Amino acid sequence: MNTNLVLYNTISRKKEPFEPLHPPFVGMYVCGPTVYSDVHLGNCRTFVSFDLIFRYLLHLGYKVRYVRNITDAGHLEGDQDEGDDKFAKKARLEKLEPMEIVQKYTLGFHEVLRLFNTLPPSIEPTATGHISEQIQMIQQILDNGYAYEVNGSVYFDVDKYIQSKNYTILTNRKLEDLLNNTRELGGQDEKRGRLDFALWIKAKPEHIMRWPSPWSIGFPGWHIECSAMSSKYLGAEFDIHGGGMDLAATHHTNEIAQSQACNHVQPAKYWMHTNMLTVNGARMSKSAGNGFLPQELFAGTHKLLHRGYSPMSVRFFMLQAHYRSTLDFSNEALEAAEKGYRRLMNALAVIPKLTVTENGEGDFDLSAFKERCYAAMNDDFNSPVLIAELFEAVRYINSVYDRKAQISATELEELKTLLQYFVADILGLIDDANASHDFENAMKLIIKLREEAKMNKDYATSDRIREALKDMGIQVMDSKDGSLWAKN
Ligand code: AMP
Ligand code: ZN
Repeated sequence: MNTNLVLYNTISRKKEPFEPLHPPFVGMYVCGPTVYSDVHLGNCRTFVSFDLIFRYLLHLGYKVRYVRNITDAGHLEGDQDEGDDKFAKKARLEKLEPMEIVQKYTLGFHEVLRLFNTLPPSIEPTATGHISEQIQMIQQILDNGYAYEVNGSVYFDVDKYIQSKNYTILTNRKLEDLLNNTRELGGQDEKRGRLDFALWIKAKPEHIMRWPSPWSIGFPGWHIECSAMSSKYLGAEFDIHGGGMDLAATHHTNEIAQSQACNHVQPAKYWMHTNMLTVNGARMSKSAGNGFLPQELFAGTHKLLHRGYSPMSVRFFMLQAHYRSTLDFSNEALEAAEKGYRRLMNALAVIPKLTVTENGEGDFDLSAFKERCYAAMNDDFNSPVLIAELFEAVRYINSVYDRKAQISATELEELKTLLQYFVADILGLIDDANASHDFENAMKLIIKLREEAKMNKDYATSDRIREALKDMGIQVMDSKDGSLWAKN
């Protein structure tokens, strides 16, 4: 398979032609959310970016296995294997089982990504569902001599690793800089070296999430789950590994070390990292407290917002920036994005109303347009350039509509196909005005069916419909003129 796709590889620090290991198959692993609280808009930016990448690879004809995990265990508050377990802490606060916390926030995550019109991954494995795979991997790392056990916990031996391997191969950071960023080991520490990290942690008596292992009853360290699950579903070596840029220096660096120590290979051919969504220049994060929820953005209820914006205009806002650039949140930027999004959707909506010229050609070079759109996406998924190209088409459509330009019937068909590809299939943008229109039509049909049931004295069915709608937050009111409905 021959495509002209070029992508930026963090590990080589340059753009490289995309040549998958086993074409037409592509294996892609993306670090998913830690489901102990709602995902914020910054997290969503990363998942929307990988959705764009997934969609484009599919469009090019690759058979993609996209694995995105759910971290539902093993994530302590501190990044250096210290502090409380995030799930247990939240469970205590909310008086729930840790697995209730996991279920609640996994459902919320799926709902938000559905609103952003992202495609589901091919496999969504959980850390708790893969404890035995993690234990096996840790055992192999121990057998290969790259880890040690102390009092039932197992640590990765970074000093041993750096004797033969480059620990900072991904980020090219200096080891001294890394050391300067870690705290000194104290007398209580079980770790031998400051950069060592936990593979298995013996559970303290109060720790709720715990599993038996050869070393102790405990739980896995944070990094091992991704190594175990990516190699299980994609093989020891696969094509793309992705995540937010904040994961490169620690999580992904440690993933590479684990895979090398276990399987003797660098796991991913291409490492892709998305840049951060920022608020007034600072990274949006749960711990910094400047994160807001997608729902607050849709409803306009957050104090930073002047009003609400629909999920599709927010998706457009995100795609207007390249995935490797930072994207700063502001009311003005959202406002501009919403306008741009509506202009694009309005142009698509007038296409069926265009008049075609009977003979002759139109005034727009469609094949050059097509080439420029593909060139933009082939250049490391450059969605802002693609969007700028699409606005050339918007201008043309509007001119044809105003009878200032011409289009032939065949060109119109070609233009429709190209817009379907680039707007709907690749950028994943749909008209949310249409979505609410479709919803209204579906509701009209349901209300009509219920009225027919009542006329046939089939009260069981009419009551069932009313109750089911009520569960969805939709009230049906009967009056002598027929039924009305309202959403709570
Ligand atoms: P977490 O739930 O914290 O494990 O994060 C899930 C994903 O969101 C990871 O790939 C992070 O790198 C990414 N992420 C976290 N904060 C941001 C942000 N402000 N902008 C973009 N991506 C982010
Ligand atoms: Zn990961």
